[in-house]
Amino acid sequence: MGVLTQDPQQADICRQELLVEVEALFVKKGENENGNQNLKYVLDSEQRISTESFEIHIAEHCNLKCRDCCNLSPFNPKKFMSLEEVQEVCDFVKMHFKPDIFKIVGGEPTLHPQLDKLLRLVKKSNVSQIVRVVTNGLLLHKMKPGFWENIDQLTISNYSSVPVKQKILDDVKIKAKEYGIVLNIKYVTQFNEIFLDEPTRDKDRIQTIYDDCWMRHRCLIIREGYFHKCTRASYMGSSYSAQDGIALLDPEFKTKALDYLNREIPLNSCEKCLGVSGNLRPNVQLKFKKNKL
Ligand code: SF4
Ligand code: SF4
Repeated sequence: MGVLTQDPQQADICRQELLVEVEALFVKKGENENGNQNLKYVLDSEQRISTESFEIHIAEHCNLKCRDCCNLSPFNPKKFMSLEEVQEVCDFVKMHFKPDIFKIVGGEPTLHPQLDKLLRLVKKSNVSQIVRVVTNGLLLHKMKPGFWENIDQLTISNYSSVPVKQKILDDVKIKAKEYGIVLNIKYVTQFNEIFLDEPTRDKDRIQTIYDDCWMRHRCLIIREGYFHKCTRASYMGSSYSAQDGIALLDPEFKTKALDYLNREIPLNSCEKCLGVSGNLRPNVQLKFKKNKL
């Protein structure tokens, strides 16, 4: 997924069609409703860290090649999480965190060959009260009842460069009503530019980018044995990613994770990332050959 920028006019049309506009309800866990940043991540009564959301990337590749894709999916090899891995992550998250929303993301999650079983497993794990799938929507007409039965929310990022057919959207709206799913269709025409070719050494600029970056609250992820506060750090590559995450096997994981989430110091990865501060540019598809998915 990219950092999405909605066309305001289309967003208004879209909003009328939504069952609920869920994104508007977001309040960062690290802040109170007045934006008081002194309120920190804390342990709840069950000794778990309350977070706004948590996500897993069940397919790291995608059927699209959006420029400025957050997770570098156009360049990622075909890779699915196994059901065992998903179960392990759910158990781990449940032990240490209490996310308001658990997001099933990618790449493109609907490419996963065992998606129904996987969603049932996530729902049954009770890792969060809300399970949300985030998709580009292009394969939703192929989803079986097991898909609709096991999700609470569905976000479709409907990209201007490859829009979802209206018939699919119409059918999805009917399914959402039938299964009581909160549907959010985002019409996306622009992405923020995300990565710098060369790391910047301007410490003030890095700090500003980090301070303004909401992804460090909303894109918490476990991947390849590490917990990261943002998906970009997870995909930044070994020299950055290991330094910027907390190893799941660390015996002091919870204490370190709490300190990490509350830390005001930018990650090493922020040297190469524009967070949500990059210039806007149109959503386009990259034109290079990749292996058939
Ligand atoms: S649709 Fe695929 S390529 Fe495009 S932003 Fe989402 S994950 Fe990235
Ligand atoms: S690397 Fe830094 S700037 Fe980029 S998304 Fe993560 S926290 Fe934000």
